[in-house]
Amino acid sequence: MSIKPSLINYRNTHIIPFRFEYYEPGSLKEVFEILEKLGNAAKILAGGTDLLVKMKTRQVEPKALVNIKRIKELKGIVDEGDRIRIGALTTLRELEESSLIAMHLPALHDAVKQMASIQIRNMATIGGNLCNASPAADTAPPLLVHEALVKTASIEGERIIPITEFFKGPGLTVLKPTELLVEIIVNKENGSSAFSKMGRTAMDLAIASVAIYLKTRGDVVEDVRVAAGAVAPTPIRCPRTETMLKGRMINEVSVELVRVIEEEVKPISDVRATAEYRRHLVKILAYDVFHKAVERSRGGT
Ligand SMILES: Cc1cc2nc3c(=O)[nH]c(=O)nc-3n(C[C@H](O)[C@H](O)[C@H](O)COP(=O)(O)OP(=O)(O)OC[C@H]3O[C@@H](n4cnc5c(N)ncnc54)[C@H](O)[C@@H]3O)c2cc1C
Repeated sequence: MSIKPSLINYRNTHIIPFRFEYYEPGSLKEVFEILEKLGNAAKILAGGTDLLVKMKTRQVEPKALVNIKRIKELKGIVDEGDRIRIGALTTLRELEESSLIAMHLPALHDAVKQMASIQIRNMATIGGNLCNASPAADTAPPLLVHEALVKTASIEGERIIPITEFFKGPGLTVLKPTELLVEIIVNKENGSSAFSKMGRTAMDLAIASVAIYLKTRGDVVEDVRVAAGAVAPTPIRCPRTETMLKGRMINEVSVELVRVIEEEVKPISDVRATAEYRRHLVKILAYDVFHKAVERSRGGT
């Protein structure tokens, strides 16, 4: 009697069901040359935690993959005294383990700690999270409130772009098909920051997320920046909420006061939540994150 595999084994969804060319360049120059030659036909592969899932489900079918993991200059976190440079290939796990990030960009540290699983965080990169351009990308709101700059490069040279101008819509950025995100640059500031999100389960993308940067003078909010995720076609800054909070006494900041954020966001209803629930949630998150940032500004963790 022979044992036969069940039919399900013939329908393994974990395979990539089409042919593609594969490149593994050893230098940035080589990457640029390949991208210049292939243009739209090629996709950059970093950690692959978004891209390979999309390829397996045939949402994207690139003719070629350009794996950039061997390019050393895209890796690592550099302390430059007054600013921090984060290479696009820096993994979420490296960010989570960095005391420099925890000290100077606490909102980003909060975000990477809450993302996916350790296995995914070991593979996934910050560049991939930004370039995938999900409205729910968790590293985006922290970088928005820390007013990060992103550096891109191609055969034509480099560009420095404020992160506020990087996202164009769901899955869309200002990057040209021949261009690579190279690094993220953030100035060190003496305020505090925090981030929080709510998902359906521990491993799910956010239903809504909020990051806040805060600088206080005594009990007064001297400066504040607010950003939200998963509540608009791109991660967004919330200038009306910022205006509402600036100059206030800390103890007068209530859920009612941050209610204005409900009017700034433009959520949709989808599998994760209704637009109404997202509006409600973003207001509660804004209140909580504000007070978490206050606590940090007073020496808490
Ligand atoms: C189980 C699971 C849980 C997840 N949980 C979360 C979560 O909680 N929060 C969250 O935000 N995300 C989550 N993700 C999504 C994903 O892990 C992250 O978005 C991750 O940071 C993507 O990085 P990557 O290096 O794997 O990108 P890749 O998949 O390699 O690339 C993503 C996209 O960016 C492009 N790209 C990558 N790097 C560059 C570059 N340097 N220049 C130009 N283009 C580039 C690629 O071509 C591709 O289009 C989850 C994914 C899984 C599978």
